[in-house]
Amino acid sequence: MIYQQKGVMIRQTNYSESSRIITILTEEGRQVPLMVRGFNKTNSPFIVLRQGIKEFLFTYSRFKGMGTLNEVDEVLSFKKVNGDFDIYSHASYVLELIIKALEEDVLQESFYRLLIRSLTLLEEGSQPAGVVAFCAIKMLPYYGGEMNVTECAICGSKDYKEFHNYSFKYHSVICAGCMDDETGERSVPISNRVLYLAGFLKHVAVGNVDSISITEENARKLLKFTELIYDEYTGVYFKSRKLLQSY
Ligand SMILES: [Zn+2]
Repeated sequence: MIYQQKGVMIRQTNYSESSRIITILTEEGRQVPLMVRGFNKTNSPFIVLRQGIKEFLFTYSRFKGMGTLNEVDEVLSFKKVNGDFDIYSHASYVLELIIKALEEDVLQESFYRLLIRSLTLLEEGSQPAGVVAFCAIKMLPYYGGEMNVTECAICGSKDYKEFHNYSFKYHSVICAGCMDDETGERSVPISNRVLYLAGFLKHVAVGNVDSISITEENARKLLKFTELIYDEYTGVYFKSRKLLQSY
């Protein structure tokens, strides 16, 4: 059977001197392994696959198991993402956040939409660290984590301007009025602006985010906070994260 689907290449491995096996994540959120004959040849028609993170239209034949790639056409080339090392590093982080949560034979159409939205935000100039945080916050439940930033764990206040700390004892925010030695145990101070942004990105629909226009400083703080949550609740290691820590 011949298929034609949009997708992003998420893995590749050499199969022989000239051929490679790639795995694509299709627009319907399915992982499909494909044999790409002649991938490593200099005149390969599949050369575009080597040029960074892009969305392609894949034409392939497949019966069961591994398919064979027949044709590939660029859909979204993400020129800015692939041309700037800093933005590209953030895009790699986004991709890793998506890939690590994929499970064999589970369709994750929402992952694909989140991936394309995040890459588009990066391409269109949103704060890179803010985009990674957005993607990480949306993916958190799939890693078994939680982040509660809507009301104070002690008094239930929803006045985010008063939010003061994030508590790993109550797994939630605590407002300034409720902070004391005992309630503040195992908590970290997080600015209310960052907590507000985190809450906004947690609840907003992915398709409704047209840009993430926050200061670079807030974007980095937001990502740091999100990573703190990941460290506490998931223990997942992302190798792209290390790349970002160098600056
Ligand atoms: Zn309170």
